Amino acid sequence: MRSYQVEFLGSFPKNVPPATLPEVAFVGRSNVGKSSAINAILGRKKVARVSQRPGRTQAVNLFHIDGRICFADLPGYGFARVPQRVRQAWKHLVEGYLFDREGLNLVVVLVDSRHEAQEMDIQLLDVLRTAKRDFVVLATKVDRMKRSKRAAAIATLRKGLRLKPDQLIAFSAPDRVGVDEAWAAIGAAV
Ligand code: GDP
Repeated sequence: MRSYQVEFLGSFPKNVPPATLPEVAFVGRSNVGKSSAINAILGRKKVARVSQRPGRTQAVNLFHIDGRICFADLPGYGFARVPQRVRQAWKHLVEGYLFDREGLNLVVVLVDSRHEAQEMDIQLLDVLRTAKRDFVVLATKVDRMKRSKRAAAIATLRKGLRLKPDQLIAFSAPDRVGVDEAWAAIGAAV
């Protein structure tokens, strides 16, 4: 397994410094497996922190990968029972980022493979389409589904999210399913 050199640039609640490398952003519902996916993609254990608690400061975490690509880990959404103020802050930070960020080449959206298309994920994809961003969706935790059920679940999800076949990648962090496909999408974009 290849492991990449990672330089942490910082955690930015606002005023994210301008990109100096082609950038790939990661975004998804909290607990979807975003941190685990980033770590699996990088072949590292603890680049992105697994399971941030709701109510933590919402911030964009930037990492330089092999001095070649910037990964932007965007705060997760969809916490139950968060105050409207927190929701608004997320929307402002993340939508602002997705619309305005210069140097952002690809957005990797994470969704849970075991659930049908969720309203918040559909809305996020609509934002990306409106912003004319290239994106790819990782359907996480496929290892939690029986192999015989995976293809049908992925097909249903793809329809629900209105994705082209090559926009949806079945993913499992522990089994490293989809890591090569994720890199192919990243490599094509940066
Ligand atoms: P985040 O909040 O989106 O960053 O999600 P985390 O990466 O912290 O993962 C949330 C929980 O799901 C943790 O308990 C992870 O161990 C677990 N998890 C994440 N990805 C996978 C996966 O691909 N397969 C399985 N079985 N569990 C996963």
